[in-house]
Amino acid sequence: MKDIDPETDEETTYECFECGKIIIAETSPDQCPDCSGSMRNRQMPLE
Ligand SMILES: [Zn+2]
Repeated sequence: MKDIDPETDEETTYECFECGKIIIAETSPDQCPDCSGSMRNRQMPLE
């Protein structure tokens, strides 16, 4: 039996601090491709 596999093909959304650009990637980008700003992980759980 195979149910939902959360680890398969997992992509993470990152947002640029500087210009707000959204990037979806499997690995964390070091910097924004548009403005070279810092990227942050948007996959934080909301409470
Ligand atoms: Zn940017």
